[in-house]
Amino acid sequence: MAIDCLVLGAGQEVGKSCVIASINDKRIMFDCGMHMGHVDHRRYPDFSRIPRPQGTGFDRAIDCIIITHFHLDHVGALPYFTEVCGYGGPIYMTYPTKALAPLMLEDYRKVMVERRGEEEQFTADHIVECMKKVIPVDLKQTVQVDKDLQIRAYYAGHVLGAAMFYAKVGDTAIVYTGDYNMTPDRHLGAAQIDRLHLDLLITESTYATTIRDSKYGREREFLKAVHKCIGGGGKVLIPTFALGRAQELCILLEDYWERMNLKVPIYFSAGLTIQANMYYKMLISWTSQKIKETYSTRNAFDFKYVTNFDRSMIDAPGPCVLFATPGMIIGGFSLEVFKHWAPAEKNLITLPGYCGVGTIGHKLMSGKPTKIDLDKDTQIDVRCQIHQLSFSPHTDAKGIMDLVKFLSPKNIILVHGEKPKIAILKGRIKSELGIPCYDPANNETVSIPSTHYVKAVASDTFIRSCSHPNFKFSKSSMEDGHGSSFKLGNSAPQLQVSDERVAEGILVIEKSKKAKVLHQEELLQMLGEKENKVQFAYCCPVRIGNLEETKSTDITSTNDKLSMTDGSLWLQILFARLSDEFSGGNIQDFGEHLQVESFRMSTCLKETCPYRIDETLQGNRSELVFFCCTWSVADEKIAQRIISILKNFGSSAVKRNSLVPIG
Ligand SMILES: [Zn+2]
Ligand SMILES: [Zn+2]
Repeated sequence: MAIDCLVLGAGQEVGKSCVIASINDKRIMFDCGMHMGHVDHRRYPDFSRIPRPQGTGFDRAIDCIIITHFHLDHVGALPYFTEVCGYGGPIYMTYPTKALAPLMLEDYRKVMVERRGEEEQFTADHIVECMKKVIPVDLKQTVQVDKDLQIRAYYAGHVLGAAMFYAKVGDTAIVYTGDYNMTPDRHLGAAQIDRLHLDLLITESTYATTIRDSKYGREREFLKAVHKCIGGGGKVLIPTFALGRAQELCILLEDYWERMNLKVPIYFSAGLTIQANMYYKMLISWTSQKIKETYSTRNAFDFKYVTNFDRSMIDAPGPCVLFATPGMIIGGFSLEVFKHWAPAEKNLITLPGYCGVGTIGHKLMSGKPTKIDLDKDTQIDVRCQIHQLSFSPHTDAKGIMDLVKFLSPKNIILVHGEKPKIAILKGRIKSELGIPCYDPANNETVSIPSTHYVKAVASDTFIRSCSHPNFKFSKSSMEDGHGSSFKLGNSAPQLQVSDERVAEGILVIEKSKKAKVLHQEELLQMLGEKENKVQFAYCCPVRIGNLEETKSTDITSTNDKLSMTDGSLWLQILFARLSDEFSGGNIQDFGEHLQVESFRMSTCLKETCPYRIDETLQGNRSELVFFCCTWSVADEKIAQRIISILKNFGSSAVKRNSLVPIG
């Protein structure tokens, strides 16, 4: 069982978000977006890479599609995938996304087909048919897609209705964030999620290396730029998509107009945004706390300074502020206005913090150009001012790290970010948090192991072993601690007692039986096996010259001359000597062998013993008696001491040999 993530889009780039995650063989498509910067086959994810049995459609290959929010880089390819490629399975998104996504899709379709004259990818009917397949979900509502697959949505901030999605199959769980914002803005709250146990977190990383300063300062910078422009009689063009940033900036401008008592008109380019504002008014429960609170006295989306803009007004004299779709100046009306207004120095174009590669917005941001080639016949002089908005509904690097720390998932995949930046963030996550992190490119697959929990019964012996407390005592200051501390009199420092209980057991899984946790001592019994212990052995040589002296004093009743083969007698002599010298334990005499704990020693009469080490021994070999010693690893220290005593007999005997010849 594993999790395989095939990244079909937004891998090391921003655009056409699409991740196919297969969790224990259930396959989910997270987002189905399009790339704004491309008009060729790169515009859509390469759906042909989705593994499917030959001759079958996508219904068999994918269990469900989850759309996180209405932005086109997350939903733009959905009608194409359902109506042209033929996917007919379930699609999930939040209620606001279901309401607003068709507006975005229809607006985009018009721009592409009616204004840019491009080949139609999907029709207005396709959008309608596609949206019929959508099952709307509420926040924190657990949806059972089928008996094995469960999903849940969490508030993501970012745009109205945006959600992070949790998906669980068996014991394996992942979260796909989509786009999110960890700080509230004027019209939306901050992302909110439960502390979940996750095998994988797939997170956006648009601002992987950016740390933002105070929002207040950034807003003031924007208002200053706008005020300066209209004060000089210029026109301000704000290219945006109809939903999201348009509402956020409108709330900001309305507030400023009110305070500064400004009379300069603010326009929306099309009826679309007016229609969108209506939805915002309806979906007030999904907005920020402040908007919800003031809702009863005034709906923040009832813009009182904003009116509709007509194409005939493009070249009308006088200052104004215009919101024109689409964002990033990818075509349509915002491009038309841009052509007219860009050549005048007093005008101002404000661009969002992020514009996709390949868009005019991106060209304007990367070093101010003086001319922009639209196509081979059209060139635009750019003399106007350009202001880049430094606020964005995406989380910054700190927000990403905060979310990662909060969830501490087992693995992380970074998507929806630029390659060099996400490489830096990946390094930070690995080194600072020690979590495996991946940044796959488009069409690459990341495989990670999934979790499988085993329910097990525990043996009595194991349970008893867990109940042994392992107290740790440490003195601490007078502060009133937790329940585990107690006072030792009035003035005495408190004693901190902590119980560091760790239980180790052995998990036994037998075929067609319940898994069981045993104490380690029970295992052999259960297996019907004998214990195998590692034993050490050494056949130790001892010079008998030294022992002969002992004999004459200690063993007076035996024969005058000891035979070399009289093993037990040598042992008795040794026993007497060791009892004097060895004080570290009880030496017992069992007749055939001596024993201290696991250490055993007996006379070795074999010609060759496998435990004898061929040491270079000085003097006459016939004066040596060998004692075979065995011991287990626990008694290594005892063994070393006894053997060194035995050897010292030898060395003193060698010395004696040179002085007192034995014979
Ligand atoms: Zn977005
Ligand atoms: Zn996005």
